[in-house]
Amino acid sequence: RAKEQGRSRYEFYTAEINERVQRRLSLENRLRGAAQRGEFLLHYQPVVATDTGTPVAFEALLRWRQPDGSLILPGQFIAVAEEIGLIGEIGDWVIDTAAREAASILTVPGCAPRIAVNVSPRQLRVPCFREAVTRALAASGLPPERLELEITEGVIMDEAPEIANTLSALCGLGVRLSIDDFGTGYSSLSYLLRYPFHTLKIDRSFIVDAGSSEAAARLVETIILLARGLKLETIAEGVETEEQCQFLKANGCDLLQGYLVGRPVPIEEAAAFLRGRQWSDPELALIGS
Ligand code: C2E
Ligand code: MG
Ligand code: MG
Ligand code: MG
Repeated sequence: RAKEQGRSRYEFYTAEINERVQRRLSLENRLRGAAQRGEFLLHYQPVVATDTGTPVAFEALLRWRQPDGSLILPGQFIAVAEEIGLIGEIGDWVIDTAAREAASILTVPGCAPRIAVNVSPRQLRVPCFREAVTRALAASGLPPERLELEITEGVIMDEAPEIANTLSALCGLGVRLSIDDFGTGYSSLSYLLRYPFHTLKIDRSFIVDAGSSEAAARLVETIILLARGLKLETIAEGVETEEQCQFLKANGCDLLQGYLVGRPVPIEEAAAFLRGRQWSDPELALIGS
C-alpha cells in the first residue's frame, strides 16, 4: 500500500513537472517572434508633480497581447526573454516605440512630458545599446532630454566597467538616467557618486510600509533628504492613497506615480489624460518649455 501510494505520488509530481516544462517551452516559443507578429504594446502611466499635480512624465510599461485578447504583464515574461536572449530585440522595440509615440502622440501644444523606459540589465551590457538609443531618438525626433532610462539598482551594483562606460555614454547623449526600485538592490551607495543619475525612484514597498511603520516613514524621509543632498530628483512609486500623497508632499518628494494619480493605460487614454489636464490647469503650459 505504502509503496503504491509513493508511486502514485511520484507519478503525480512527474506529471506536474512535465506540465510546467511544457508551459515554459510553449511560452518561449510564443515569445520568439512575438515582436515581429506585432503582439507587444506599451501602456503609459503618468508621473505628476507632487505640489501641482501637473504631469511631468509617463512611464512606458510593456504588455504582451495574447490571441484571446488578454494582456500578459512583464513580470511573467521579461525574465524568460532575458534567459533566452530575446531581451535585446524586445528592448529595441520598446525604445523605438516609446520614443515614436511620445514624440507624436504624447506631445500636445505647450506640453511635452518626459518618457521613461525600463532598461534590462542584459540590455545595458550589450555595447550597441547606445546606438539603439541614438537611432530611436533620430527616427522619432524626440529631444534626448525627454527620454529617461530607468535602471534597477541591482544592475548598478554590478561593477562591470562596460556598464559604467555605457551609462556615461548615454548621459553624453543628453538622456536622463534614473534609478528604479531604489532601496531594494542591496548595493553600496557609492554608485550614487560614481554614475551620472538624475532621478531616484523610491520603491513602492517603502511607500506602502510608511503608512503603518514609523521606522519606514523615517526611512522614506531620509531617502528624500539623501537624494536632495545629491541633487537628485525623487519619484515615489506606487502611491495609492491620499495619506501617502500628503506624507510625501510634507516631506518634499518631487514627483508621484501610482494608482492614486493614474494606472498604466493605452496610449490614447494617456494622451487624453494629458489634454484633459491641460484644459483644467493653466500652469501646464509651463512644462517642458
Ligand atoms: P517598475 O519599473 O518598477 O514599474 C512599476 C510597476 O508597478 C508596474 O508594473 C506598474 O503597473 C506597477 N504600479 C504602478 N503604480 C502602482 C500602484 O499604485 N500600486 C501597485 N500595486 N502597482 C503599481 P508592471 O507594468 O507589471 O511592470 C513590472 C515591472 O516589469 C516593472 O517594474 C519593470 O521592472 C518591468 N518592465 C516593465 N516594462 C518593461 C520593459 O519595457 N522592459 C523591461 N526590461 N522591463 C520592463
Ligand atoms: Mg520602472
Ligand atoms: Mg520601479
Ligand atoms: Mg518596481
